[in-house]
Amino acid sequence: MQDKLLSVQNLRVSFLSDGRWTSVVHDISFSIEAGTTVAIVGESGSGKSVTSLALMRLLAPGSSRIEGDIRFSGKLLSTMNDAAIRRIRGNEIAMIFQEPMTSLNPSLTIGFQLGEVLMTHRGMGKAQAEAEAVRLMERVRIPSAATRIHDFPHRLSGGMRQRVMIAMALACRPKLLIADEPTTALDVTIQAQILDLIRELQREEGMSVLFITHDMGVVAEIADRTIVMLQGRIVESGMTAEIFNTPKHPYTRALLSAVP
Ligand code: ADP
Ligand code: MG
Repeated sequence: MQDKLLSVQNLRVSFLSDGRWTSVVHDISFSIEAGTTVAIVGESGSGKSVTSLALMRLLAPGSSRIEGDIRFSGKLLSTMNDAAIRRIRGNEIAMIFQEPMTSLNPSLTIGFQLGEVLMTHRGMGKAQAEAEAVRLMERVRIPSAATRIHDFPHRLSGGMRQRVMIAMALACRPKLLIADEPTTALDVTIQAQILDLIRELQREEGMSVLFITHDMGVVAEIADRTIVMLQGRIVESGMTAEIFNTPKHPYTRALLSAVP
């Protein structure tokens, strides 16, 4: 048995609306072993994003409630103070989203933004950060990295912007990458290239990945283990090959029937 990097016990997430608390994630438990990729799959509205935001404690405190235990690298995240959780978010867990533009500042060059991350989280000086930024851009296979680094985000295609976001994530050398539908907005060929890149990084950097998607085709490409979510509950989980070969829940079978 490998070490558990992340372990989630009875996670329940509720939101306050019109004076009433309503749960949208109901007592889910799962774990991620170090160096593996776990997919959470399910249709829109099933609670995938809320789960990942709750893990990072990125939900508004007044109008949301998170119950259950979240343990990361042996530390109990669920009771950690805000400063400590910010350190974990900056250094140990990185996140990428569907639309990279929302996380990039449109008025700063890519090199500047990567440099900021390297100076803040890795304590690098300016010159070192600049060199490392180019190396990271090359690492995520952005052509002509040394030139592109001077571009503003809007000059890049969606696929290239997602590569920049992956470079930003790598800049912190995270133990865990949470990727929330990172390829959903991309063309199919670009999608395949980004999946290849994430797989390669996972293998070579020894990172663990929590990959969130609504697409079983993507799950087959990327995940060691798969968690199927429906209406805020886990209906099935197991090795990806098992889920594909012998799906137990009717919802999993329905998802699989949509894979070409
Ligand atoms: P998914 O990522 O699987 O598409 P989400 O996790 O975004 O689904 O949403 C799960 C449910 O939680 C949805 O019904 C959504 O409307 C609700 N929800 C998400 N964020 C909030 C919020 N901040 N306040 C209230 N309800 C929310
Ligand atoms: Mg979502």
